[in-house]
Amino acid sequence: MALIITSECINCDVCEPECPNQAISMGEDYYVIDPARCTECVGHFGEPQCVQVCPVECIPVDPAHVETHQQLERKYVMLQAAQGSTVCAS
Ligand code: SF4
Ligand code: SF4
Repeated sequence: MALIITSECINCDVCEPECPNQAISMGEDYYVIDPARCTECVGHFGEPQCVQVCPVECIPVDPAHVETHQQLERKYVMLQAAQGSTVCAS
């Protein structure tokens, strides 16, 4: 599953720079997570980094984006490939 930021977010800014996938950005009223970029930190860390740092515990799993560990790993690989430098054309 991707994670989701709830309206309890106090816009403290600490989670955004911690995300290894650049999945967190400022939304209309508070921070939001792009489910297409959130791997629950699979591929980078053992625990979701945003959850670790959030002072108000407002980042639960998003039941609308249920994914297996394998799917999250695949998303991680695709995000890495999209970032570019190590992609091999052959
Ligand atoms: S769980 Fe990891 S990848 Fe997902 S938004 Fe939080 S820091 Fe980013
Ligand atoms: S760490 Fe939590 S409270 Fe702070 S901006 Fe991120 S989601 Fe909002």
